[in-house]
Amino acid sequence: MTIILRVDPTNPDEEALSRAAEVIRGGGLVAFPTETVYGLGANVFDRRALMRVYEVKQRPVDNPLIIHVDSLEMLGEVARDIPEEAFKLASRFWPGPLTLILLKSERVPYEATGGLETVAVRMPAHPVALKLISRAGVPIAAPSANLSGRPSPTRGEHVVRDLYSKVDVIIDAGETLYGVESTIVNILVKPPVLLRPGAYPVEEVERVLGVRIHVPEFARGLSEAESAMAPGTRYRHYAPNTPLILVEAGSYEGEALKRLSMEVARLIGEFKGRRVCVLSSRETSSAYTGLGVEVFVLGSRDNLFEVARSLFNALRWVDDAGCEVAIAEGYPERGLGLTIMNRLRKAASRRIFI
Ligand code: AMP
Ligand code: MG
Repeated sequence: MTIILRVDPTNPDEEALSRAAEVIRGGGLVAFPTETVYGLGANVFDRRALMRVYEVKQRPVDNPLIIHVDSLEMLGEVARDIPEEAFKLASRFWPGPLTLILLKSERVPYEATGGLETVAVRMPAHPVALKLISRAGVPIAAPSANLSGRPSPTRGEHVVRDLYSKVDVIIDAGETLYGVESTIVNILVKPPVLLRPGAYPVEEVERVLGVRIHVPEFARGLSEAESAMAPGTRYRHYAPNTPLILVEAGSYEGEALKRLSMEVARLIGEFKGRRVCVLSSRETSSAYTGLGVEVFVLGSRDNLFEVARSLFNALRWVDDAGCEVAIAEGYPERGLGLTIMNRLRKAASRRIFI
């Protein structure tokens, strides 16, 4: 049985939170909103609850979870020998969508870390998430609340669709703010390494650290990580069931952008007779009118926050709208553009470079 609790995102009902916190303490699973995407939460110190998270999501057991804390004090329960850089980043970015890789404390079971000696930790900014952790009184391990391989859930209804009847509680607080997962940085190595681009642009993290962060190919969504360094990157992610073609270009300005939309229009012609859907930017969408396709406008190229925010919703829409083929445009790999391209490349079944 799954209990769905609908709460106000900024002023959540106290009784609902207490109920959910009680479920966490009792070893149950609670799906809850964060400012990035919805998470599927379990008490990090409860091995059985952690194993159930993997089972419910059908997640490979070597793909570790992010641990959510409500304070630096609680950070001390899950990590040890915390470097100065972590506090520097925490004071600037927490609560918020930055996840840090740190050495795990003895108390954290290997079930939460995929067998690694390190933990991924962050302090979420969503009032529901923060209050839930505080009331539970324990750090909450929470991967995204989707079935493994599906687009991450940005709305309560996405979680209901994927996990209803499989978890104990779903807290529905509407749409999340960023709509993409946290940025993950490993600061235990020099130079620091970006393991996953996310809701905070990596350039902002670099500015605070005062050093360059290495961006490996897998963080750009170009290759699979071969080592345990970034475990989650080995698996295909975020993919709709519908084949998705991603059209990339060397530049997305002026004439180059026009060429990109012409290439998309040419592809549409290739699939004549099939139901084609296009994930477009506001600037290019008019190029596809009258071509008999469904167009989903992600947002403006001048506001990539908007594009990133609607991306997972669009990937779910592709399946729901009955598209037989989907075509997405690329974005420059700067700021949130890197995050968007990582997700699109992982979702794509085919990439075309013009
Ligand atoms: P999710 O919350 O579903 O987005 O997945 C969490 C991601 O965090 C995983 O896929 C890993 O890539 C990453 N992660 C968690 N723990 C570690 C760790 N100890 N070292 C490196 N990456 C980690
Ligand atoms: Mg996930």
